[in-house]
Amino acid sequence: MKEIYFLKPLFFEKIWGGTRLEKNFGYHIPEDIDKHKVGEAWGISGHYKGRNTIINGKYKGMNLDDLWKTHPEIFGEDGSRGDFPLQLRLVDAQDDLSIQVHPYEEYAMKHENQHGKNEAWYIIECQPDSKLIYGSNANTKGELKQMVAEGRWNDLVRYKNIKAGDFVYVPSGIMHAICAGTMVLEIAQCSDVTYRFYDYDRVDKNGNHRPLHIEKSIDVLTVPTPNVSLNKKVIKYPHSTKEIYLDNEFFYIAKITVNGAHNIKNDKPFGACCVLNGSGKIMDYEIKKGDFFIVPSDIKTMNIEGNLEMIIACA
Ligand code: ZN
Repeated sequence: MKEIYFLKPLFFEKIWGGTRLEKNFGYHIPEDIDKHKVGEAWGISGHYKGRNTIINGKYKGMNLDDLWKTHPEIFGEDGSRGDFPLQLRLVDAQDDLSIQVHPYEEYAMKHENQHGKNEAWYIIECQPDSKLIYGSNANTKGELKQMVAEGRWNDLVRYKNIKAGDFVYVPSGIMHAICAGTMVLEIAQCSDVTYRFYDYDRVDKNGNHRPLHIEKSIDVLTVPTPNVSLNKKVIKYPHSTKEIYLDNEFFYIAKITVNGAHNIKNDKPFGACCVLNGSGKIMDYEIKKGDFFIVPSDIKTMNIEGNLEMIIACA
C-alpha cells in the first residue's frame, strides 16, 4: 500500500508565545515548556535545531532529515541534495515578535553557514483590524542607518492590514514582524537565521535582553522596499477548491478546501501538508486539524474526503 507519512510536532517556548497551540489545536505540550509561552510548533522540519520524527508506517521512528537523505525517491529525487528544503511551523504570537529581517542565500551561507530564508504566512487567526509590520519607509541605507540610530521605529516601519485567511509572502530582505494576537502557519526555507532590529526592550524570565543584530540587519535589508505581488490562482471543483498562492523558484504553496469527496491531482514531487481546520480522510488515513504529513511522490492523486482546509507546500 502507498503510504503517507505523519510527523510528530516539536514545541518551542518563546518570550512572545501563548496558549493557543494547546487550546486551539489540542496539542499535548511537553512538561519542560511553560504552557503559557508556547510560541511555535514545528510540524515539518529537517533543520538541525529541530527535526520531526515519522510516527507511522515503515519509516516510523526515523527523522525527516534521515528520510530525505536516505530515501530521495519519496521526494521525487534521483539523489539526495543538501537539507530538506522546507519548514512548516505554527506560530502563536501572544505578544509582538521582534522587528526583524532574514538574509538572502549568499549572505546567510557566508556569515552563518545556513541557508537564506524566504518565508510565507497563512493567517489563521488575528484580532479585528490587525496589522503586521511589513516593509520599511527607508529609501536609502543612509536613511535606514539614521532612523535605526535614532530609534525612530514608528517612522521606519510600514504596516499591512490583515485578516484571517490572508496569505503573505515575505522574501528575504523585507523588514517584518508578526504582531500580538496573530496566529499563522509559516512556510519557510530550511533556515533559522533571524536578524533583529528591535525587540521592544523586552527581557526574558532571567532578566536578559535577546541579542540584536543591527549591522547585519542593515546589510541585508532591501531598500527601498520592493513591491511583492502575488498571482493567486483559484481552481474550483464540485466539492473542493484549490487556491495556489505561490509558485516560484523557492515554493509552491496552495490551500485545499474540501467539502465532500474529491480526487486531487498532486503534480509536484511531494507535498508537505498541514490541516488547518476540520477533519476527514486522505486515502485510508484519518486526518484532523493540526496534523502534519508528507504525501510522497508515488501518490499522484490524493483521494480526500471530509470537511477540511489544508495547506500543501513543495519546494
Ligand atoms: Zn521572520
